[in-house]
Amino acid sequence: MSVPPGGPNAGTNAAAPNAAATQTVAARAEQLTKVYGSGDTIVEALRHVDVAFAAGEFTAIMGPSGSGKSTLMHCLAGLDASTSGRVTIGDTDLSVLNDKQTTLLRRDRIGFVFQAFNLVPTLTAKENITLPLDIAGRKPDSAWFDTVIDRLGLRDRLGHRPSELSGGQQQRVACARALVGRPDIIFGDEPTGNLDSRSSGEVMSILRAAVDEFRQTVIIVTHDPRAASYADRVVFLADGRIVNELRNPSADDVFEYMKHLDDPAQRRGATPAQQQNAPVAGAAPAPLAPPNPPQLNQSPRPADPIPPAQSSWQPLAADSDGPDGRSGRHSRG
Ligand code: ADP
Repeated sequence: MSVPPGGPNAGTNAAAPNAAATQTVAARAEQLTKVYGSGDTIVEALRHVDVAFAAGEFTAIMGPSGSGKSTLMHCLAGLDASTSGRVTIGDTDLSVLNDKQTTLLRRDRIGFVFQAFNLVPTLTAKENITLPLDIAGRKPDSAWFDTVIDRLGLRDRLGHRPSELSGGQQQRVACARALVGRPDIIFGDEPTGNLDSRSSGEVMSILRAAVDEFRQTVIIVTHDPRAASYADRVVFLADGRIVNELRNPSADDVFEYMKHLDDPAQRRGATPAQQQNAPVAGAAPAPLAPPNPPQLNQSPRPADPIPPAQSSWQPLAADSDGPDGRSGRHSRG
């Protein structure tokens, strides 16, 4: 396979228009700050983060351990309160909601897929899938329920309890649970973190299909370049700041940039502009270029954390290299 210098997307990332600038914004953080502790033990987990997530897009949030990924996701999803700044889901400003209103917003407008699946062990797959709707006193739309179940290949598993399902099947149930209520946004916290490579590919294909076919908005935290390559956009955090973003990256692009971010010495070598938040969306100039653009033809090919799926699992379109033979790319839109 030949890859042009700079990678398969060379020249496209820095110039890519910010989709959120022209599309409806599903979620936005403005000058978001989160401080833990005080005095000597103070930790600034988020430092004036400005970022917007376009509706109908799939975004992956990446960064070194401790860079603030989970904190950002939890603040965006209303699971944690920020120290200062603002989060909006659609037009709703989370900072003006009381606890009950925040709970209702999470219940009605947000779906979650967690690393640990978070299924109720005593309930069947079907009962787990409809649980949030049952709690809300809403009846599932049966046509939509059938669409989701068949698309995710869960029809013959609906009567099984989680202990009778594989990890991949459990995560598919969790994806169905997130989809069936038609939330505005699905958040995934390391959704492939507990899965083998094949199941990871299946779950990422489901989240991709949620965007492409069901017009959902998906935002995940992941440490896995291959998983991130399913996203339309990868936003990179370091030291509580957004330092870059890539659009439509391959796994190789993401891997190369993560190598740079994982090296604090190189990170310190970034220009002051690169150390600032890349302002995004609504008021967003083009994203910053990586301090050291990937030169894929000069570095060994990274190990693929998720090999291209050769799944016998049929309901979703098979995941494969693109028609142009590029590595680690996934069909979008
Ligand atoms: P990531 O998800 O990128 O690994 P986190 O958002 O979990 O990073 O954490 C960002 C920083 O905030 C880290 O330095 C972490 O130790 C700190 N942190 C996270 N949660 C807490 C907490 N509850 N109390 C104190 N510090 C915390």
